[in-house]
Amino acid sequence: MNLEPLPAFNDNYIWMLHDGVQALVVDPGDAAPVLHALQARNLQLAAILVSHHHSDHCGGIAELKVQTGAQVYGTGGEDIVGIDHPLLGGERLQILGLEVQVLAVPGHTRAHVAFWLPLHEVAGADPVLFCGDTLFSGGCGRLFEGTPAQMYQSLQMLATLPDATRICCAHEYTLSNLRFCEAVEPDNAALKDYLQHCLGLRQSGTPTLPSTLAREKTINPYLRCQQATVRAAAQAYDPAVRTALDVFAALRRWKNEFA
Ligand SMILES: [Zn+2]
Repeated sequence: MNLEPLPAFNDNYIWMLHDGVQALVVDPGDAAPVLHALQARNLQLAAILVSHHHSDHCGGIAELKVQTGAQVYGTGGEDIVGIDHPLLGGERLQILGLEVQVLAVPGHTRAHVAFWLPLHEVAGADPVLFCGDTLFSGGCGRLFEGTPAQMYQSLQMLATLPDATRICCAHEYTLSNLRFCEAVEPDNAALKDYLQHCLGLRQSGTPTLPSTLAREKTINPYLRCQQATVRAAAQAYDPAVRTALDVFAALRRWKNEFA
């Protein structure tokens, strides 16, 4: 199985997973980069997975369906044209001969879903999570339609997946997120190392993704709301912070106003 991020727009990635013959793509906001990649690799598009209704994630669905006949699996709780298999979370699908578990992760949007592939069918492969705009490397999605409690719970649920899970986010936001992470945890050594690593990758035009859940647990403050350092930083920003959920909500507000 090959996993590739196809760059789209300014900073989107359309993730493609393929076995050399058939492919699936996730959140195709634009059909052109997908069609180009399919042609260049001589692949057939079997399935399209859609996490939420924003146009930079679903703008390419109609054309891809016409051009390839691919089946579309996506959230059933949002207004998206072209979905063949509406999903609510909790489903187990079989796509390209692989198990795909659907997870309800509301917060960024009302009915956002994520897709976790254990990849136990592929010897030696680590699991993959396609999380749309829920979890980013060093960050999390903005709360456009959901509450802090919903997003916090969604992230807590993702954090229970195996540590080796490859985190496939839909945007290259890593460097700007890590600047915020540094403000929250200036003494986090793993964070400093990871920032240097990512600066090198971006200088050579290489994606910083996928990340791994293990890494995110060491550097991503939204997954570290119980840590004393993160809690102290959140309390310095908002003295009313008490619970881990308060920490999360304060971090999210702080990030919104962070330069
Ligand atoms: Zn979005």
